[in-house]
Amino acid sequence: MNGAAARMPEASAITVPVPLGDRAYDIHVGRGLLGEAGRRIAALGARAAAIVTDENVGPLYAAALAASLEQNGLRTATIALPPGEATKSYASLERVCDAVLAAKIERGDLVVALGGGVVGDLAGFAAAVVRRGVRFVQIPTTLLSQVDSSVGGKTGINSRHGKNLVGAFHQPSLVLADTGLLDSLPLREMRAGYAEVVKYGLIDDPAFFDWCEKNWRGVFAGGPERDEAVAQSCRSKAAVVVRDEREDGDRALLNLGHTFGHALERITRYDSARLVHGEGVAIGLAQAFRFSAALGLCDEADARRVEAHLAAVGLPTRLSQVPGGYGTVDDILEAMAQDKKVKGGALTFILVRGIGQSFIARDVPVDRVRAFLQDEIT
Ligand code: NAD
Ligand code: MG
Repeated sequence: MNGAAARMPEASAITVPVPLGDRAYDIHVGRGLLGEAGRRIAALGARAAAIVTDENVGPLYAAALAASLEQNGLRTATIALPPGEATKSYASLERVCDAVLAAKIERGDLVVALGGGVVGDLAGFAAAVVRRGVRFVQIPTTLLSQVDSSVGGKTGINSRHGKNLVGAFHQPSLVLADTGLLDSLPLREMRAGYAEVVKYGLIDDPAFFDWCEKNWRGVFAGGPERDEAVAQSCRSKAAVVVRDEREDGDRALLNLGHTFGHALERITRYDSARLVHGEGVAIGLAQAFRFSAALGLCDEADARRVEAHLAAVGLPTRLSQVPGGYGTVDDILEAMAQDKKVKGGALTFILVRGIGQSFIARDVPVDRVRAFLQDEIT
């Protein structure tokens, strides 16, 4: 707070800094931040902002954002795209870039992503390439995007060759995570994002996993626990990103639960009616713990505890919970091989020695994975 008397009551926010040198930025987390987004964004010194959103989020929140920006002297234009993963495409990229140019966004101006990870990844990539790069602000509106995709600067679209294969590292200039916006998020999306929250505890923060077990109801109900969970997740992700911005090293730990999870997403053909990413991650987290226990690395009690917590919030933890089936052991192995480089019959995996004790294992024999999956099925 500075000395000047505030004209309006300000939403209280938790600030998480992301100290990346000349690309440093802040993440603000709190209920009600959208209403004062204009003031915080105007402080970046732009004259105009192109708001990119989707057709679910736009009708709920875009007008309030535009009004707040305009009250603070910014010219705005809004582009709304159809919701869903298919929007992360070359065709949408063209639409967004042209809309940004039509809005006369100059080098000093801003693209503002208002939506979930789909909007954030697409708008961030458009910002990275329009005029060889303009600044952008993330206003994530799903739990997943507030705790994961809006932080770290990975942007991009999908190609026929696979997900997220065309993109750029482009850090946002500011992230505003208004936790009140999650009140309108469908429960299934809320749970999916929560799998990524739990993941941070499982990677290297056992105290946070304990906290999650005690406080998850408040996170879902929208109490102060929600702000704390989002902020703590952002601190965890920011710490990893600061150590390894471009994923040359231990940023890979963020993939805990994702080797199995991605394979299940592939097997269910990215059909969100069957499995959304966070559900795949939840099963994958439970499997990473059971696999680590089967390898004798981790206590079975830890694997049971992780599974019990995910199940308590309503997330799936077992292959048998994949709607429409998961195929055979070979189908899963083949889907995993597409994701990970198999070198000499070995896979790279994120394994655990316990809750909060993950590590990168580079030489996991495929035969051990096969035997584990066989056990999972029978
Ligand atoms: P999403 O953007 O598709 O949003 C999920 C659904 O919720 C959509 O239908 C959306 O319209 C709706 N929605 C969003 N906010 C809402 C709100 N407040 N109220 C009501 N409905 C709302 O999905 P997501 O899970 O946020 O993001 C998934 C994407 O994120 C994937 O494309 C994934 O590749 C990407 N991702 C990127 C990173 C990264 O580091 N860049 C990390 C993880 C995931
Ligand atoms: Mg993920």
